[in-house]
Amino acid sequence: SPIVAAYVAKTPRSAALHARASGHLPSGIAHDSRHTDPYPIYTDRALGPRKWDTDGNELIDFYGGHGAHLLGHCDPAVIAAAQGQLARGTQFGSCHALEVEWAGLITQMVPCAERVRFTSSGTEATHMALRLARAFTGRRKIIRFQKHFHGWHDHMAFGVDGHFDGSPSPGVLPELAAEVVLLPPNDIDAVRRAFAEDDDIAAAILEPTGASTGMVPTGPDFLRALREACTARGAVLIFDEVVTGFRIAPGGAQQAMGVTPDLCTLAKIVAGGLPGGAVAGRKDILDWIDFEVSAARGREKIKHQGTYNANPVSAAAAIETLRRIRDTDACARATDAAQAMRHAFNQVLAEEGIPWAVYGDHSVIHFFTNPAGLDIDPLAWDANAQPAATFSADPRKTMLAKLYLALVVNGMDPKGPRGAILSATHGPAEIEAATEAWRRSLRMLKE
Ligand code: PLP
Repeated sequence: SPIVAAYVAKTPRSAALHARASGHLPSGIAHDSRHTDPYPIYTDRALGPRKWDTDGNELIDFYGGHGAHLLGHCDPAVIAAAQGQLARGTQFGSCHALEVEWAGLITQMVPCAERVRFTSSGTEATHMALRLARAFTGRRKIIRFQKHFHGWHDHMAFGVDGHFDGSPSPGVLPELAAEVVLLPPNDIDAVRRAFAEDDDIAAAILEPTGASTGMVPTGPDFLRALREACTARGAVLIFDEVVTGFRIAPGGAQQAMGVTPDLCTLAKIVAGGLPGGAVAGRKDILDWIDFEVSAARGREKIKHQGTYNANPVSAAAAIETLRRIRDTDACARATDAAQAMRHAFNQVLAEEGIPWAVYGDHSVIHFFTNPAGLDIDPLAWDANAQPAATFSADPRKTMLAKLYLALVVNGMDPKGPRGAILSATHGPAEIEAATEAWRRSLRMLKE
């Protein structure tokens, strides 16, 4: 294919790195979503809305560190804060003032956050949220929704990545499926039925803007109904705000949608684009990690360790990031840029006569590339299934693989062939360049 040939011609150093990587790393990668056919690009550096690969190609970045960078790559003040802390110590193994400041910002900005417990990742945050809910309610089971992603720990290895029937992925105990009530997204009747049939449900967890950051969107009506259903049954409502937190609004989706959960999970932006995460929420629930409250109540607390919890370098970057998000229009600027990009991309689709659509909310964009999927269950949209795109006998997967490579060839590094995440540094120049890249890529696909 000329598209593959153009990609290979532009990226010889990435090809060589991937050949070496394959001798050390399974599939040559460190995160499933970086799997790319024939090989991924290797990034050398990034600044604002741009990144440069090891071959020196400049790309407009539309993945933003998996959504970790609302202020763009290498924001000067965030970098200065992290560098200042690097020179003072990277890991104290003790308490420090920065974690107090950091937690104070979270409780100030996020509506549900009366208390905060730091973790080292979003996966750890959702893991702890489920444990808190079980301890608090004395119940076992968790409601979750098909295609909603909550990290990779055992209880979350259902309902995603082709396991929509609730079967576990390899290596996960099949018995755990009995503890997970997996429901179709946005189906409040299914939620009510589950609660009516089962009095052992501790919590419901979901991505508040919908599966995969809004790819299968949800809305405030469903969130309100779910809030009521959880309250009526004494179950804990958990919003997974690992992506939406500090992005959709300074107080996350819960602030934007006006529905307050009992707990929320945070990562990515909360740690200023460095490693870190948190579970935040009602004091009486987080009291299950509190030594004094647990002792006073005569109960054993939940154990929680983690060498890198509230890491001081992450904390320094996070404080600068959260203050800026609180005090400026950074979230709104990212949203406006995404709105302009959706409009421009849809205009190109219309001009080129391609029956796709670009949609999404806030600063997240999704490419809908499967018009045949309009007649089928949205969960079957293989346009958005993992692995996202491979050269294979399946013409749609091959088309998606080509779409991604074409976008890279034309100077854009999106979220695979599935969409884009923007930052406050994406302005008219980036949108214009990306729109031209989109047009050229679509034309290459037609050839
Ligand atoms: N929850 C959601 C909604 C996510 O998008 C992610 C990661 O992309 C996670 C949880 C897991 O976070 P982490 O990758 O930090 O473990």
